[in-house]
Amino acid sequence: MSAKIKILFCSSEVVPFAKTGGLADVAGTLPLALEELGVETRIVMPHYAAIDSERFKLKRLDNQTSVAKLGKKVRVYFIENADYFNRSGLYQDKGVDYADNLPRFAYYCVQTLELIKRIKFKPDVIHCNDWQTALIPIYLKTRYNHDPFYKKIKTVFTIHNLGYQGLCPKEQFPATGLNPDLFTVDGVEFYGKVNLLKGGLLFADKITTVSPTYAKEIQTPEFGCGLEGVLQKRRHDTSGILNGIDYQEWDPAKNESLVKNYSIDDPGSKYANKLDLQKISGLKQNIDVPLLGMITRLADQKGLDIFCEAIDKICQLPLQFILLGTGDQKYHSLFEKVKKKYKNTSINLKFDAVLAYKIYAGSDMFLMPSYYEPCGLGQLISLKFGTIPVVRKTGGLADTVTDYNVSGGAPGNGFVFTEYKSQKLFKAVKTALDVYADKKAWRDLVAVAMNCNFAWAESAKKYVELYKSLPIEK
Ligand code: ADP
Repeated sequence: MSAKIKILFCSSEVVPFAKTGGLADVAGTLPLALEELGVETRIVMPHYAAIDSERFKLKRLDNQTSVAKLGKKVRVYFIENADYFNRSGLYQDKGVDYADNLPRFAYYCVQTLELIKRIKFKPDVIHCNDWQTALIPIYLKTRYNHDPFYKKIKTVFTIHNLGYQGLCPKEQFPATGLNPDLFTVDGVEFYGKVNLLKGGLLFADKITTVSPTYAKEIQTPEFGCGLEGVLQKRRHDTSGILNGIDYQEWDPAKNESLVKNYSIDDPGSKYANKLDLQKISGLKQNIDVPLLGMITRLADQKGLDIFCEAIDKICQLPLQFILLGTGDQKYHSLFEKVKKKYKNTSINLKFDAVLAYKIYAGSDMFLMPSYYEPCGLGQLISLKFGTIPVVRKTGGLADTVTDYNVSGGAPGNGFVFTEYKSQKLFKAVKTALDVYADKKAWRDLVAVAMNCNFAWAESAKKYVELYKSLPIEK
């Protein structure tokens, strides 16, 4: 391998250009950490209507591509197609997937491969992320494998959430441009439909997911979402690498949206943010009352069913609760009712990046009762903000949050429950309140949390090792 590895990072969303969830955070930060390690990294994503070309200084590359910079060096290419990408959502409108997602992302995958040849950027590895990019490993090993330009390119495929597989009606299979013999159980066929993710998992050289525990969980029927067989077959090529977070953005000492910055040396200033949050969200201003925050997609995966079962009991505790989230209509309706019923709650059913910063900074505790959680960023962010996570032991939550009460070993940094039951969730919140009542114990716990380090550097090194483990031929 040459001294400098070249990576093409493919993601359907990238911070700061477009974001619906954690994938965008990873795609906007891991490439920067890779560059720091001397890896030449470029990114390709679709050009959506929502991307602010002026703000991000997009420049025209050719009649179907524009380009911008992420950080100082990383080039981001935007694949344009007015019919496919010039709409308000990324994948769906009002909770309903676009009917033409397969042709849209097949177009993105083909154009990505065409682009790198046009600009003569031959990566050693194409790092694909989630179903939107899953056709790339298949194309490389089928329709592009006779072209010497592509022949030696390897692929890594990262699963950010196995629950989203890019399932499409079989009638759309021809739009992939793949040979019909790939529409079988050994290919992309899945119970009579096209499953793009499955194809990516079968054809990529290496598979990763975003935490070691989730890498094991997805090989089981409970969390495999029907693909556990494929993942078991590929277990020797599968590993878990924990996501990091970008401490440039997620640092209470630097964040410009906070009324007062604070750090581990001055955690008391966190309370100015608590008072500010209470004020702007209509909660009674009181630094003594514990404030429980939650920022989440409103989806079953996030543990909202057990949370909603426990919500009356939780709201009757001596605490305040603030929610920021959007998603399934059933949860919107439910939280609208909670909003009317309990004065000690602030329910914000929208996506709001600034309010998110304020909640991470102003809350005392942060709730993530997920049924499954590939990695989770919320708990990593809240730790840095000295906001103690209350989580279920699953996936990346299990790998990053340790229970306060577990005796022996290093002191815990949060509150952890295991069984997926509303009573267990309630008990964990109650335990957190008990510890909160002991001011000294809580201060010590906040210090442990703020001292945790989940910067990208360590995880980026693991990706570099993985790229290097591939038989890269020049
Ligand atoms: P997922 O990717 O499954 O949604 P993660 O915990 O990995 O969950 O990442 C979610 C990211 O999106 C976090 O940065 C979180 O703060 C942010 N987020 C989620 N919902 C909202 C919202 N309604 N407003 C602002 N930020 C949000």
